[in-house]
Amino acid sequence: MGKIAVYAGSFDPITFGHVDIVERALECFDGVILAVAADTPKDALFTVKERVEMAKVALKDKPDVVVENFRGLLVNYVASAKATVILRGLRATSDFEYEFHMASTNKNLNPQIETLFMMANKDYFFVSSRTIKEVASLGGSVKGLVPECVERKLKERFHALKERR
Ligand code: ADP
Repeated sequence: MGKIAVYAGSFDPITFGHVDIVERALECFDGVILAVAADTPKDALFTVKERVEMAKVALKDKPDVVVENFRGLLVNYVASAKATVILRGLRATSDFEYEFHMASTNKNLNPQIETLFMMANKDYFFVSSRTIKEVASLGGSVKGLVPECVERKLKERFHALKERR
């Protein structure tokens, strides 16, 4: 088995910023596991099953990528996947403090596991799942920022939520 990186996050939903990180990681690693956190805040828009499904569709043309969900401590999941690298993306300095704390905590929990950071692509550094959801909820276009399956799913979800009101 080659060198595997675990790209972990909420992916609520996956964006082209995330896909770009996966593509660039494949230049550095033999394989990437995109690990979708099942223990995410209650305000997640999509269930873990939906988030995994959208990521699978978005990455279906990449044979060296596996999409899974995980529960509990990320370092335990990484060790169980026989990987030693956690991959995270950095957009602006505003990401830094949180990421620094997470990486330090994970290092303390398991010193064998290294966290690596990749800078966001300049085309996507302003893209976050949160703003994507905000724009979509207000009827704005998110074309070119998220995979098509995500665009459709966002439309469906916000349409259904509106109908319920
Ligand atoms: P979190 O796990 O903090 O909920 P996300 O699921 O949104 O974060 O993203 C997972 C990882 O991808 C994080 O390291 C985040 O900083 C990074 N990321 C998010 N959006 C982008 C982007 N547009 N470009 C590069 N990295 C990103």
